[in-house]
Amino acid sequence: MARILVIGGGIAGTAAALGLHKAGHDVALFEAHPDTAEDIGAFLTLATNGMRALAQLDATDAVTAVGFPLTSLRLLDSGGTEVTRAPLAGAHDPALRYRCLRRGELNAALQTEAARRGMALRHGTRLVSVDDRPDGVTAHFADGGTATGDLLIGADGLNSAVRRQVAALAAQPRYAGQRVFYGYTDGTPAADDTGAITMVRGSESAFGYTVSPTGETYWFARVAGDPLPTGGPAHRTAADRREELLPVLRRDATPAGDIVAACADRIMVVDAAEMPLGTPWHVGRVLLIGDAAHAASPATGQGASMALEDAVVLAKALRDTPDPGTAFAVYEQHRRPRVEHNITVSGGISRGTHTPARDGSAAPGASRVDDALIRQLAWETPLPAGADGVR
Ligand SMILES: Cc1cc2nc3c(=O)[nH]c(=O)nc-3n(C[C@H](O)[C@H](O)[C@H](O)COP(=O)(O)OP(=O)(O)OC[C@H]3O[C@@H](n4cnc5c(N)ncnc54)[C@H](O)[C@@H]3O)c2cc1C
Repeated sequence: MARILVIGGGIAGTAAALGLHKAGHDVALFEAHPDTAEDIGAFLTLATNGMRALAQLDATDAVTAVGFPLTSLRLLDSGGTEVTRAPLAGAHDPALRYRCLRRGELNAALQTEAARRGMALRHGTRLVSVDDRPDGVTAHFADGGTATGDLLIGADGLNSAVRRQVAALAAQPRYAGQRVFYGYTDGTPAADDTGAITMVRGSESAFGYTVSPTGETYWFARVAGDPLPTGGPAHRTAADRREELLPVLRRDATPAGDIVAACADRIMVVDAAEMPLGTPWHVGRVLLIGDAAHAASPATGQGASMALEDAVVLAKALRDTPDPGTAFAVYEQHRRPRVEHNITVSGGISRGTHTPARDGSAAPGASRVDDALIRQLAWETPLPAGADGVR
């Protein structure tokens, strides 16, 4: 049994903690935010592959207690005409069907589950430096506290402090060519089925929305342009963001403009960002997972599902390979081809160089869970040594 420090109580960190604990390790989880932060962050969609990973962590019930299921996908063209309507993968299986939820809700559900299983979870502990030595690794926190373990997993997101603090892991995220707006509109101007996600191929935007069982419309818009100015006056308020977005959406005869026009004040915007291919993931006793290692532009909607897959594969690698250095290498061998394929496809969609499939599934393998991935995730099945990773 190893003592493992997991930095970041987001999706990758809490899921990794569940997997490592299941594999018999002593796990301590450290999260910078002072509480479960249920109301922060965008909404997201967990795809069938992410739901399958959750099931391997015995966390299906914890997560299906929040959010709502999605069972079909509609695609509209820029004239508002429905081009496709199709069931989503896994729609027939309550444990595997797509699920829409706010990121904060998902974090809170996973953190509660980790605490319920007896894991130590400390909020308000922000990592500021890492001391990686041959005999152990020590995390130093902003409050002056420290923690020492055998291994340290950096699951602290796109702007990872672990990545910044460990020189051999140095790499910077980069802009992926789009601003991503998202928001929540009370009610909906369009008559839509609950359980459907609608993608709108606008002439100058990619828009998507779904209606929650309580009648709230969750929506996003991806628009090409320069990165957001840092510290500048633009986009300070929801009204500024609506003003930028509405003229782009109004060029098309789709429901997008009305949904955003009716959105009162919950409009947010972020830059689509990604990690460069080849970013180093591990050195010594330290490994990066989730967005810290392989953030992709949100176009394929796979970042959270990939983080959940990471958790299962890491736990299996450390369970089946006694030497951590070799386990990290096995983990990387299995994960890198798949997550870098997602970075490439998603970045290509954001930059306009890759067109999503007509059925709306943006990334090959995103909605289609193939046999190799099923084997890679299956808890009882050891990871094959020397096998190529799954794409
Ligand atoms: C607009 C948008 C839409 C998206 N839509 C989808 C979608 O539909 N489907 C999907 O699968 N993915 C989606 N994603 C991507 C998804 O949100 C990420 O891939 C996912 O959140 C990555 O999880 P993570 O745990 O690696 O990182 P994060 O969720 O960023 O979690 C990192 C955690 O580490 C903590 N932390 C940070 N620094 C420190 C520190 N120094 N010390 C301790 N803790 C620290 C943070 O507080 C946070 O809790 C979207 C992303 C965006 C921006």
